[in-house]
Amino acid sequence: VFPGSVDAAGQRATLGVLGGGQLGRMFVHAAQRLGYFTAVLEPDVHSPAGQVSHHHIQTGYDDPAGLAQLAHLCQAITTEFENVPAQALQTLALTRPVAPSAAVVGIAQDRVAEKAHFAACADLSGVTCAPYAVIETLAQRQAVQAERAELLPGILKTARMGYDGKGQVRVKTAEELAAAWAELGGVACVLEKMLPLTAECSVLVARGWDGQVVSFAPQRNVHVEGILAVTHAYAGNMPPTLAERAQAAAVAIAQHLGYVGVLCVEFFVVDDGSTHGGLIVNEMAPRPHNSGHYTMDACDASQFDLQVHTMAGLPLPQPRQHSPAIMLNLLGDVWFDASGQLQEPDWRSVLSLPGTHLHLYGKLEARAGRKMGHLTITGPDVASVKTVARRAAGLLG
Ligand code: ADP
Ligand code: MG
Repeated sequence: VFPGSVDAAGQRATLGVLGGGQLGRMFVHAAQRLGYFTAVLEPDVHSPAGQVSHHHIQTGYDDPAGLAQLAHLCQAITTEFENVPAQALQTLALTRPVAPSAAVVGIAQDRVAEKAHFAACADLSGVTCAPYAVIETLAQRQAVQAERAELLPGILKTARMGYDGKGQVRVKTAEELAAAWAELGGVACVLEKMLPLTAECSVLVARGWDGQVVSFAPQRNVHVEGILAVTHAYAGNMPPTLAERAQAAAVAIAQHLGYVGVLCVEFFVVDDGSTHGGLIVNEMAPRPHNSGHYTMDACDASQFDLQVHTMAGLPLPQPRQHSPAIMLNLLGDVWFDASGQLQEPDWRSVLSLPGTHLHLYGKLEARAGRKMGHLTITGPDVASVKTVARRAAGLLG
């Protein structure tokens, strides 16, 4: 569906998104810049994406009337929130092209299915995930405690609904594992061996309906307390051999899924005694990703542009990064001073630094740990980008 087109019934080309968070907002911006109308389905009245969309359908994600309205308004539909019920995508797909599909979103929503997929395409991708065990029953937990001591110390992660380090408990002993599983409510989990990470990186891949694939070079990510804090996106951010392997692995993983849309694959780098370290696949997100936000300011096509192009069946040229970049996430914590008083960040000073691009998501209330926005720094060379990023980080506390 081409932007600006009008169908026989007089309806203008409209793209829809399930979910109203910041990823939906940036998708809407990208779609509108091309001339599309947009529709967002999201229950929250003040959602970041709902605020900026032509249409905002305010219902639950699985509301039949809301989904019918979304399908009626839109020629193609995507999602921005991976915990949207896969069934809702299935329903929409009965009448409209939906990318990514319910089936792949269902895999990415479930760590057990996700790891099984990584294992199934390990020969193609050349990477495996961290040693793990599935714990869905008391008997499985006991078996793991008795027979898989090598997984400790480890991280117990809920199979579903985890994000930003939520739904995870670090455990050192069998007793701690038992307590952690109880704390997580005895739900389906995976216990993953704690790995000595030397770095983390992620790769964004976009694949069209026709199977054409493009991808960005890996970005190196720094997490603090399970939440992305900084993304380094420039040549030399990691050893080239490792970068090539990660990029090829992410493409293989997307192809093996028959994926359509934008996919982000996250990797761990571990010290395995080799020169460059070993690559381990961590997880995937069936949508644009926080670690890809720099593409909006540093590349000739952003991850959101590619989301629009893939779902609408537009051509998919290989994107090019034209500037080195560092992205700083802006969590709600930045809005509070040392004594816990609410205080607007010093935007005047931050914005007077060269090459800063501020993106705020329109969230009405700052809370600790809440993603409020991000700041991307671009510049003529890596050294100057690093210098400005350090100064910006200093100003943002
Ligand atoms: P989320 O869905 O919350 O992003 P992740 O599995 O990506 O969950 O975990 C969040 C972060 O926790 C990772 O980016 C990494 O920093 C750390 N982490 C997760 N699993 C491991 C592991 N097996 N070994 C070491 N660190 C880990
Ligand atoms: Mg993660």
